[in-house]
Amino acid sequence: MKIKIDHIPEEGIMLWSKEEAELYPVLAEMAQDGECRFEGPIHVSLRAKPVRGMIEAKGQLAAEVRLNCRRCLAIFSSALKRPFRLYFTHEMDECADAATEGGAELSADDVGLIQFKGDVVDFTEAIQEQVVLAVPDWPLCAQDCRGLCPRCGRNLNQEKCQCDTAISDDRFAVLKNLKIEKPT
Ligand SMILES: [Zn+2]
Ligand SMILES: [Zn+2]
Repeated sequence: MKIKIDHIPEEGIMLWSKEEAELYPVLAEMAQDGECRFEGPIHVSLRAKPVRGMIEAKGQLAAEVRLNCRRCLAIFSSALKRPFRLYFTHEMDECADAATEGGAELSADDVGLIQFKGDVVDFTEAIQEQVVLAVPDWPLCAQDCRGLCPRCGRNLNQEKCQCDTAISDDRFAVLKNLKIEKPT
């Protein structure tokens, strides 16, 4: 997604894109590493607007991904959504201003400062970064996922097992056994 600066009117302009994840090199790499799999295109909508000599791009992205649960290893689908507000500028000083003023309702993570050359703003790389940030570091199929039993490997979301898995219990079990083995 890119636009010539002269094509951005004072009041801003809405831009939409729907591009396959493979078109973004880093996302393609993530998919290859098995970190996640993108199902369908990356949807982006944003409003590009000149703000104090910079181009503000405010919008959101959405994508469907398949992830591996860190606890139970199940593969599950997740809808990624992420709002962003980015500033594109030729000059670093001006954009530093925007960083402090711009982020009232968005966290610092959502505010990006990007420099561009020439008269075309290319949003591709910045969008890619936002997608990467939207992918959870520690994906869970459900907040209360019970995970796998460390002893028997059963998926505890699906079935219970008889294993005594608490670590402290484990230690006591050893003591108990010692007692039992004592001659009476
Ligand atoms: Zn899980
Ligand atoms: Zn078990």
